[in-house]
Amino acid sequence: MALQHVHSEILAMAGLRREHLICPVFVSEKAPEGMSAMPGMAAVPLGGVASQLQQIADAGIKSVIIFGIPGSRDVHGSAAVDGNGVVQQAVREIKSVFGRSINVITDVCVCQYNLSGHCGLLQAGKVENDPTVRMLAQIAKSHVDAGADVVAPSAMMDGQVKAIREAVGSRARILSYSAKHASSLYAPFRSAAFAKKGKIDKASYQVSYASPRQAMREMALDIAEGADMVMVKPGMAYLDLVKRAKEQFGVPVAVQNVSGEYAMIKAAGMRGWIDEEEWKALLLASMRRAGADRIISYFALDVARLL
Ligand SMILES: [Zn+2]
Repeated sequence: MALQHVHSEILAMAGLRREHLICPVFVSEKAPEGMSAMPGMAAVPLGGVASQLQQIADAGIKSVIIFGIPGSRDVHGSAAVDGNGVVQQAVREIKSVFGRSINVITDVCVCQYNLSGHCGLLQAGKVENDPTVRMLAQIAKSHVDAGADVVAPSAMMDGQVKAIREAVGSRARILSYSAKHASSLYAPFRSAAFAKKGKIDKASYQVSYASPRQAMREMALDIAEGADMVMVKPGMAYLDLVKRAKEQFGVPVAVQNVSGEYAMIKAAGMRGWIDEEEWKALLLASMRRAGADRIISYFALDVARLL
C-alpha cells in the first residue's frame, strides 16, 4: 500500500493524468486464444466488447484503440475493408453503448488480415505502396462509417495520410503512426494477432533506429498531409524523438509502449528480477516527462488505477 502511494506520486510528479492514457483493446472474431507472450492480456470476443469497455471507463480512461483479429484471412487481407468486419462491428457496438463518452481510435492496417503479416499488398514478394494506400483509405473510411472518432494508419506507406484525409474528410481525426521503427519488440503482439508466425522483416518501410532524422521527416510529412497527431513507436528507447517532436511540431504527440516492452517488464517482474509495479509507473512517467500527450500502453488500466 505504501509502495503504491510512492508510485502514484511518481506519476503525479510527471504530470501523468488519466486523459493521457489510451487503452489498447484486441477484438477477436473467433474464440480468443490466450496471449502467451503478453501475460495478463487477452483478446475479447465481439460479445465481450461492451463489458471490457465498461472496465476501462470505470478506471477513468476515455480513449481506446481497437485492433482486430479477423475470423478468416486471405492473401489480400480483404476482411479489413468489410463493413461488417471485426473492427467495424466492435466500433458500432462501443458507440451504441458509450456514445461520445468514449473516444474510439482504430488501427488501420492489413497485417492482421492477410497471410504474410506485411503491412501492404504484395507483388512478387514486395510491398506495393500505391495499391496499399488505396486500400488503407477504404479501411479508414469503413471505420469512420462505423463511428470511429480517430483513425490511426500504421502501415508506414508513403501518402497514406493524404489518401485517408481525402477519404474521411473532416469526419474523423487522424493519429498517424509516423515514426514506427522496425523492431523485434512487436513480436509478442504479432504472435497473438498474425497468421504468419516468426520474424517478418519490415525494414523496407519502417524507420531504422539509426535514422532519427528520417523519423522526424516522416512526422513532418504526415502533418503536411493532414495528420492531427503523430506517433513515435516503440516508446522506451525512442523518447528523445518524442521530446524533439513535441518541441518541433505544433500537434499532439503520442507514443506507443509496445507489446515487447510490456513483455520485458512482465517477464522480469514474474521472476522477481525487477519490481513490475515500480517499472510500469516509471516507464509511463518517463513518457509523459518526454512530452507525450497520449500514451498507448498495455499497462494503461493498471496505471489509471494508481492515479
Ligand atoms: Zn501493419
